[in-house]
Amino acid sequence: MAKIIIFNNDTDRMETYYKGENEAMPYNTNSTLKVREFRGSSKSNILWTTKRTMQSWNSQRYIFGAPIPVGFAFKRPYEGGHGNQSQHYAGVAFDVGQTLTQARRNTLYNSAKNSGVWAYVEPISLTPTWVHFDKRFRNTSLFNRWISNFKKGKCK
Ligand SMILES: [Zn+2]
Repeated sequence: MAKIIIFNNDTDRMETYYKGENEAMPYNTNSTLKVREFRGSSKSNILWTTKRTMQSWNSQRYIFGAPIPVGFAFKRPYEGGHGNQSQHYAGVAFDVGQTLTQARRNTLYNSAKNSGVWAYVEPISLTPTWVHFDKRFRNTSLFNRWISNFKKGKCK
């Protein structure tokens, strides 16, 4: 069972969910993103993301029109990562397509780039064996304050 904190961008509130590893993430449609997929290799018993990030995933999955294999999404700060790791710490980034062929990965990259749902898609030259896309948020947002408070141990 994972504890999942979702920042609801529409109500400006944090929501708490408890889900099994094979259950869909909150706000995910058609079970296209399971808890274990969002978790990736993270060992954390608490995960977090935003409602907007989940909705963007739903849109991206619909536009791509096929399953998107997820290698990594969520990471705790001490669990490593690549260049854009702060977005992974925030739970608003995905590293996907690791198990696709190069041609299919290029199609996925173009799909993400053209979909307009992501704030940032990392150039393919920097991500030779995966596709990184994320949903950045304002540093002044409530969600950002919650994450920094969590890091300081103020949230349980
Ligand atoms: Zn990434």
